[in-house]
Parts: sequence; C-alpha cells; structure tokens
Amino acid sequence: MTLIAANLQAVRARIFSICAELGRAPDSVGLLAVSKTWPASSVAEAIGADQRMFGENYVQEALDKIVALASHQLDWHFIGPLQSNKTRSVAENFSWVHSVENLKIAQRLAAQRPEALAPINVCIQVNVSGELSKSGVAPEAALSLARECATLQRLRLRGLMTIPAPTDDKTLQRKQFAILREIKDALNQNGMNLDTLSMGMSHDMEAAIIEGATMVRVGTAIFGERQ
Ligand SMILES: *Cc1c(COP(=O)(O)O)cnc(C)c1O
Repeated sequence: MTLIAANLQAVRARIFSICAELGRAPDSVGLLAVSKTWPASSVAEAIGADQRMFGENYVQEALDKIVALASHQLDWHFIGPLQSNKTRSVAENFSWVHSVENLKIAQRLAAQRPEALAPINVCIQVNVSGELSKSGVAPEAALSLARECATLQRLRLRGLMTIPAPTDDKTLQRKQFAILREIKDALNQNGMNLDTLSMGMSHDMEAAIIEGATMVRVGTAIFGERQ
C-alpha cells in the first residue's frame, strides 16, 4: 500500500470513529482530498485508493491536473480565493466552488457555466473568527448574499464554508464551527434550502463533524506536509 493510500485509510477511520461516537452515518460526511501543491501523480495514488473528490486552491495548477487526470471520473472542488478573471476556467472545469464571497463572482460563475454541464454547486464562505486577514463574508451578510445567489439559474447554492482561526483548543474549534451551523440553520429558517456545511481540516475535523460538517477538506493528513 502507498503512503497516501494508508493516510487516506487513517483519515477515513477518523471520520468513521467520530461518526460512530455521534450516531451519525459515516457517509453523511464527504471527504474532500485537498491536493494543492501536490503533483498529478499524488492525486493518482489517491484515486488508486478510491478517492474521487479533490479540492484545489490555484486555478492554473488545478487545470494542469484536471487535464492530466481527465480519463478518471473525478469531482473537482475549487476552495481558494477566486478572482473575477479566473471564473470562466472554474465554471468550465469544476463541479463545486466553496469560496464564493461576493455577488459578482457568483454572477460570473452562473453566466459562464456551460449549458452542457449541471449547474455549478457553490458554498458561501463565511468568516466566523472575525480575523481581518480571513476571506469570507461576515455572518450578518450571509443571508442577503444567499438570497441573491439563489436567484441565479446556472448556480446551485448548497451551503456554507469556513476556515476558522487555527487553534488546538477543542472547545474553541467547536465554538467556531457551531457559528457556521447556526448561520446555516438560520438561513434555512429564512427559506433557503442548504444541505452542506464545508468545515474541518486535518487538525480539527472531529470538532467540525461534531458540529455538523457534511464535508471535510483534508490535505496534510492525506498527502503530507506541504513544502
Ligand atoms: C489547504 C486547505 C485545506 C486543507 O488543510 P490541511 O490542514 O492541509 O488539511 C482545507 N481547506 C482550504 C480552504 C485550504 O486552503
């Protein structure tokens, strides 16, 4: 077994174990393998271990891998900051975008999504920690952006994503993820129909799953420390 296959197995075991503790179905948590900075050969190793969903942060780097691995049936998720001059490539090559943080980007993705493809799935990125350096909309702004996204035809608003302030304090990890869950619940009470909470990474996925994550985005624990 390759190292990546063994790491994937260990990550799946972590998800399985926390789900068992919570009485949650293990398949209620999707595993997105974050392959940024790793070559197509590393992604191919993960594919060999039955991984199909991959997350990428940089458009050009991702396109190279998408082309190299085009013979496989994969789901590519864009999870990094997205500039308007890159939306077309993303609309044409990814099935999800987790990092929508303004209407202009959402409108461009919708307008540029090819007719032959299903609507593009998106999450609104929310800044739950209030750190100025972090991307994402403020919690108070999530509902109005969600309402605007919901009107766009070629775009399917699925839920919310967050990258909290990094901390080893489990209580604080949960507190930040709980904020995202509460925002999703509030939006659904206001007529939205969101089914996705994209939260939790290598060091905090248990806390995220406890607070209701439906998709965890895991890089380091699968591929190793990025250079
Ligand atoms: C890099 C990245 C991840 C993966 O983080 P790890 O700590 O390596 O698991 C998840 N989400 C986003 C948005 C990222 O940029």
